[in-house]
Order: sequence, then structure tokens, then C-alpha cells
Amino acid sequence: MALQIESSLSRRQWLAVAAGSLLIRPDSLTADETKMASGQFTFEDRHQKIREMTARVLVEAQDGGLLLQGMDGRIWQVPPDKLKQKAAATTPFAPLSAAESGKQITREFAGFVSYSTERYALCTNASEPYAHWCLGLFERLATAFRAYWNKLGFKTVDPVFPLVAVVFQKQTQFAEFATVDAGADVAGVPGYFSIPTNRIVLRDLTHSSTGQPARTNAEIEQRLESALYNVATMVHEATHQIAFNCGLHTRMADNPLWMTEGMATYFETPDLRSKTGWKTAGQINRARLRRFKEFLTARRPADSLETLIRNDTRLTSPDTAEDGYAESWALTYFLVRKQAANYVKYLTHISTKEPLDFPTPEQRVAEFQDVFGDLKRLDTEFVKYLKTLR
Ligand SMILES: [Zn+2]
Repeated sequence: MALQIESSLSRRQWLAVAAGSLLIRPDSLTADETKMASGQFTFEDRHQKIREMTARVLVEAQDGGLLLQGMDGRIWQVPPDKLKQKAAATTPFAPLSAAESGKQITREFAGFVSYSTERYALCTNASEPYAHWCLGLFERLATAFRAYWNKLGFKTVDPVFPLVAVVFQKQTQFAEFATVDAGADVAGVPGYFSIPTNRIVLRDLTHSSTGQPARTNAEIEQRLESALYNVATMVHEATHQIAFNCGLHTRMADNPLWMTEGMATYFETPDLRSKTGWKTAGQINRARLRRFKEFLTARRPADSLETLIRNDTRLTSPDTAEDGYAESWALTYFLVRKQAANYVKYLTHISTKEPLDFPTPEQRVAEFQDVFGDLKRLDTEFVKYLKTLR
């Protein structure tokens, strides 16, 4: 199972910029703050391309480096020597609509067409029926996802920026773009969510070697039946995107990976046919449960919960990732089912964290124990409960 990389920039790179103070949270839109911090910027991006845009300053580092956010929600890291010009804003900073964002992105990808709903913009060189099918899936997922957490007690908010998906028709096109955008590690996966760009990047899962596109929803769904693992990845990445845009997580803040991945795996079970909802939301994720039980029997150490929580290593190291993802799903499932009020309390605590403020591993564990109590006792309950699941 491939590991999905979420961000193309390392924490160290962010920290290098973050020597200064944070001005604005990337997910908030306070008018006064934004007005004060916005301007017209010209800079060279990390691929030596000159970019010119109306943007707002999220962070200004002591050395003059900037963390900028464009009106499409995208975040740019601008070292001092790459900033070419800074002037008063010619247009007021206002988030683009999904349709505007889609149109803007088609200028970046030759031959791509954009389709949009109120929340989503999808840019693709795949077929129009597939584009609409994906948009339908994302909309249903976003609605069900928000309703789920609202009902559990976490009040989600409307996304401030449009939710963008870029869908490549061919695997080779996807791999080429992904390598430059997010690194060679992601070239082989079916898709990823990028924290800096706020986009999900996917490939057409119905693409066939004959080149004949699927023309109807029935044909699309028929082809996807044989690619359910890849559909799960697509749903997984779309779940990350909506979670980072509805108030649950904050881009560039400390979001424990077990929590973000636990949430994405909690929702990733595909629901292809339901037109009205997302019937598999919160159901047992069979593949993850199977893996967790095997881990439990064969090699789970006594301090497993602690290592999962204290840092992200178990999920980012290829050797331990599969077990780490399975345990993240299992822990999320257990907490939602058995400690919903505490889990919501923990989510709320994490959601209010300031970007670029990273705790020590000890602080991570302490924050968790503040809500859920002693780890050893919780571990006993957790394992006992998971063993009852079939
Ligand atoms: Zn993920």
C-alpha cells in the first residue's frame, strides 16, 4: 500500500521562514487583518518561474522572507532574495470563486478544461462525464463529512477558498507532474493532497489502454469496481482536503499525523452508487482492521499508542507506515465510538493551534493525555474493544 504524501515542503523549510511572527491564519478571513497585510507581489517561485499576484502576507520572517497566500488559497514560500517587487494592492484581496479558480488553473495546464460546482473546481484533460462524476462524488463526500462531525459536536465551517482538484487522464502525465510538485515518492500513488497548493491531484481511474473514455455513470462505476483500492485513495485525499478547509485542521499548524490520517481512513471506504449520501461513513474499514489485528497479534509493542502519538515517524517511514495507518484508523474508530465527547474536545483543541507552532513529542503526549487520561489504561480499553470487532 503506497504512502500518501501530504505536503511537498518539509517542516524545516517552513520553520526557516517562520522566524518572524504570524500575521494571519491561512483559514481565516478577517477583513482588517487581510486589508493591512495584502499587496501586489512579484516573486520567483521554486521552479524559477516569475509569479505576479495579489496576495496577503501570512508570515513575515526577520530576514524579510515571506509566506504569501494568493486569492486561490495557495501558499507560497518566498525567500528574501526571490522577492522582486512589492506594491500596494491594485485589487482588494478576496477569495476566488470555484469557477474563477478553475479558469485560472486551465492557464497553467495546456489542454485542460475546468468544471465547477459551488465549492469545487476540477481541471482535467480526462472526459467530461468523468469530471462530472468526480465532482458529484466530492460534493457528496463534503456534505456527508461535515454533517458527520457537526452531529458529533464539532461545528464545521464553510471553506474560505475553493476546493481544487487536478485530474490527469494518463498515469505518465500524473507521475511527471507529481514528481515536480510533490516529489518522486508520490509519482506511483493514485493521488495526493498538497498542503501548500490546497489541491488534490489525481489521475483518471477509468482510463483504459484502448483510449476509449467511459461515457456514462454506469460505465464509469463499472470500470471503478475493479479499482476500489484506488477509489479509496481518491476519497482519502478528498477527505484530507475538506478536513483542512472546514475548520477541523489548519494548514501548516501541528496536526498529529495519526489524527489526520485516522480521519481520512475513517472516511475512505468508497460509496459509488448512493446518490443521496455517503452510507459507508464511519463503517468498519475492513482492510485497515485486518492489518491492525495482524499487527496486534504479531508485533505490536506495549508502547504502541505512545509512539503513534508522540511524533509522525511511524506513518512517514515506509517500513512502519502500513501498521501506523492501520493503528491510526483503529484508534480513531475506537475514540469516535467509545469516547466521542473527548475526541471532539481533542479535535477542537488541535483546530485552534496556531500555524508554525510545533510542540515537542512530550507536549504532544501530554496534550493527548490531558483529554483522554492515562495512556496505559486507554490502551487496555482500546485493544479490548478492537478485538471485539469483526
Ligand atoms: Zn493521507
